Amino acid sequence: MCGIIGIYGNPEASNLAYLGLYAQQHRGQEGAGIVTIDDRGAHRHMGQGLVSDVFSNRKVVESLPGSRAIGHTRYSTTGGLDAKNVGPLLFNVQNQPVAIAHNGNLVNLKATRLRLQRDGAIFQTSTDTEIIIHLMARSNAKRMVDRTVDALSQVEGAYSLLILTPEGLIAARDPRGWRPFVIGRLGESWVFASETCALDLIGAQVLRDVQPGEVLQIDDDGLATVHQLPAQPLKHCIFEYVYFARPDSRIFGDNVDKMRRKLGITLADEAPAPGADITISVPDSSNTAALGYADRSGIRHEIGLIRNHYVGRSFIRPEQRLRDLTVKLKFNTVKGVLEDREVVIVDDSIVRGTTMRRLVRLLRQAGVKKVHVRIASPPIRHPCHFGLDFPTEQELIAGRDSVDQIREYLEADTLEYLSLDGLRNSMDRPGDQFCTACFSGDYPIVPEAGSDKQIFENSVAGAD
Ligand code: AMP
Repeated sequence: MCGIIGIYGNPEASNLAYLGLYAQQHRGQEGAGIVTIDDRGAHRHMGQGLVSDVFSNRKVVESLPGSRAIGHTRYSTTGGLDAKNVGPLLFNVQNQPVAIAHNGNLVNLKATRLRLQRDGAIFQTSTDTEIIIHLMARSNAKRMVDRTVDALSQVEGAYSLLILTPEGLIAARDPRGWRPFVIGRLGESWVFASETCALDLIGAQVLRDVQPGEVLQIDDDGLATVHQLPAQPLKHCIFEYVYFARPDSRIFGDNVDKMRRKLGITLADEAPAPGADITISVPDSSNTAALGYADRSGIRHEIGLIRNHYVGRSFIRPEQRLRDLTVKLKFNTVKGVLEDREVVIVDDSIVRGTTMRRLVRLLRQAGVKKVHVRIASPPIRHPCHFGLDFPTEQELIAGRDSVDQIREYLEADTLEYLSLDGLRNSMDRPGDQFCTACFSGDYPIVPEAGSDKQIFENSVAGAD
C-alpha cells in the first residue's frame, strides 16, 4: 500500500505535496519522495524512512521548484526495501522527464517484465510501477497521456496513478477502482490524493473521485478526461475500511469512520461477550470498531492500552525480527483499568498473530481475569495481490490454523471473528462491489504464478 499526492498550478507545490504526504504517512512508512517539474526540468528528493526523516531539512522541500509536484509514501508490495524503489520514480521518455507515483499492485508483471527485457528494456528498479514507464516509452503515441493509455491497456491489477510530465499531470485509476483516489481544488490549483485527509490538511475542497477506469490530464487548459478504459465490475478493497484508510477520510464515497463503526456494531451482534466488564481497543487502528462494539453491546469502553506514538505501525516493518520488537515498544497497559476485570479486546484484524499474542500476555500480566478477543474482520486466509503486503498462506495464521487453534496460540479465553457476510452486509453498497480476496480467496483477477512479492523479487534479482 502507498499514499500518493499531486499538486498542479500552485507556487507552493512542493510544500503542499510534503504536507499531503505527512497526512498519508499511515499508507507507507518505508520511504517517501517528491518530484517537481518546471521549465528547467525535473527536481527530485526521496529517501528511506518516514516523511519527517526524509524531509527533516525543510530547505530540501523549498529547493524543489515549480508549480507542479507529485509525492509518494512507500510501503512495498512489489519490489524490496531497496532505496532505488522509493517513489516517485523518475525517467526520461523521448527526452522528457516523466515521474510516476503508484498506489496498488499490477498482477501480470512477471510476464510483462520478461517480455520487455527480452525486447531490450533495462530495468532500474524491481517495482511493478517501472513496467508502466517502459510500456509508455515503447508507445508510438505523441502525447504522454496517450502513451499512458497505451501502457495501461497492457497491464492488469490495482492502480491509482499520478504521472507528471512537462505536458501536464496525468491521473489514472484501474477499472475496478481497487484503491481510493480523490480530486480536489485549492483555489485555482488542483490536488489529487489517495485519501481525503490529505486534502483536509491543506484546506482543499473535495471535488470527486477519479472514476474507475478514468485516465485524465490536467494542463493549463484545465481538467480533461482523455480516456475511459473498458469497464469491469467494481472491486473496491474492503480492507481499506477494515484497517488501512484513516477514519477521518472519505473513500469510495463513504466515511471510513462510519463504516468501521458498523463493523464493530455487526461484530457485537454476531459475537457478544456476556459477562465482560469492559471493552478496550488496540489503538489506533481498532478505536473506531471498538466504539461500535461497545455502543451496541452496552459494555463500558475504557482506554486499557496506551500506545507509544513514536513507533511506526508494527506490521509495516517487513522483517519478523523487527516486528516482534516493535509490538513491545508500542503498547503498555493501564493496570488500574484492567486489574480483576473481564475484558473484550477488539482489534481490526489478525495477520500473523504476533500483535494479539503479545497483547493477551500483557493483559494477563496486568491482572485481567478473562480475555475475550473480538476481530472486526473475518480470518485473513489468503495473500493479497492487489496492493496489501499480506504474507503467504503459510505465514498467515488463519491460512494454516483453525479459529480454535488460533485462540490457543493467542492464549485467549475466547476468540471470535466477524463473518464474511457480516462484513459485506455492513457496507452501504452491494457487497459484490468489493474485493474480499484476502478473506474469501475469491480473486477478481487470478494472479500469475510467481507474482508473490518474494518470488518476484528473487526472479527479478536473477533476471537483471
Ligand atoms: P499481526 O501482528 O501480524 O497479526 O498483525 C495484525 C496487526 O497489524 C493488527 O493489529 C492490524 O491493525 C495490523 N494490520 C493488519 N493488516 C495490516 C496491513 N496490511 N498492513 C499493516 N498493518 C496491518
